Amino acid sequence: MPRPIRALIHPSALQHNLSRVRRAAPDAQVWAVVKANAYGHGIERVFDGLRGADGFALLDLQEAQRLRQLGWRGPILLLEGVFEARDLELCSRLGLWHTIHCDEQIDMLAAHKTQLGHRVFLKMNSGMNRLGFTPQRFRSAWARLNALPQVDEISFMTHFSDADGARGIGHQVAAFDTATQDLPGERSLCNSAGVLRHASVQAALAADWVRAGIVLYGSAPDHPEHGAAHWDLQPAMTLSTRLVALQQLQAGDSVGYGSCFTADQPTTIGVAACGYADGYPRHAGTGTPVLVNGIRTRLLGRVSMDLLAVDLNPVIAAGLEVGFGSEVTLWGRAENGAVLPIDEVAAAAGTVGYELMCALAPRVPVAVAVV
Ligand SMILES: *Cc1c(COP(=O)(O)O)cnc(C)c1O
Repeated sequence: MPRPIRALIHPSALQHNLSRVRRAAPDAQVWAVVKANAYGHGIERVFDGLRGADGFALLDLQEAQRLRQLGWRGPILLLEGVFEARDLELCSRLGLWHTIHCDEQIDMLAAHKTQLGHRVFLKMNSGMNRLGFTPQRFRSAWARLNALPQVDEISFMTHFSDADGARGIGHQVAAFDTATQDLPGERSLCNSAGVLRHASVQAALAADWVRAGIVLYGSAPDHPEHGAAHWDLQPAMTLSTRLVALQQLQAGDSVGYGSCFTADQPTTIGVAACGYADGYPRHAGTGTPVLVNGIRTRLLGRVSMDLLAVDLNPVIAAGLEVGFGSEVTLWGRAENGAVLPIDEVAAAAGTVGYELMCALAPRVPVAVAVV
């Protein structure tokens, strides 16, 4: 028998979360961001749930190819554009839209031989200082692009550094608006946090395209200020396993490497088949939430490579049968419907939901739920 750990992808949750984005930005077209193999979920596995999007946005040409192989004929946007000149041939062949964030990319396009004009998103660095032309240099970049026969249509984008936090987006929106005011073309500003937290404040923001990533997978972009339930999001991934052993601790007994947890009362613990080699964060310590038979309890001691320990006292106190083979939910939805948001596990480990989903290990078998 294989180890009992597995991940389950929920197409109905993806669909629900996509409709949630549409409700928040009703006038915008939605790029479903599926970079990093759909944030660890698998492009092929999320495709059905997200095919209602207006386009898919990603970084890798190979991922774009996989989308075309799945039969997607709509827009695909390369969020960082091309990395070398020959990537442009694939853009022409697969009809990919691509971002232009630097002069070198304009040079490559100017030298590219193509029959079909390219659709490009000219990116502004409005304050994040990662990719894009500064507002001062934006117009000359636009003029250069606009003069190229290789270019069919130019749209504009920028990316927010603080859509999820206190600083907000006002300063970047102002810079973007001022520099693009009289340029013709579609605009794309918001990521997930921008859509959920700011789209209603300024409707114009949401037009013409939003770029929704994390929200589609059911994680709140601004946890812990808000949780997934606050935003009405459903987990798109469940990571679950089973108990493979039980132990009885007396007061004074400890568990695991480093004896990091010592019982202060008689405690029944369960040992679950999940460890950091599965992508579960080793930095999650005692107290990290876990569901056993759908009842909320906590992790005990240090997470090891293949195993972790959980407190079964709350499960027993709830009157539930628990033993070898009992269901353990690391994040997502338990069989009884209880939900453990990935954001809570991430917070306990000092990280964010994004990192945990992307880090799901290759050794974990993944299935797609039939709705
Ligand atoms: C990843 C990414 C997004 C999506 O961000 P989320 O916070 O996951 O919604 C949007 N735009 C760009 C340019 C990105 O790289």
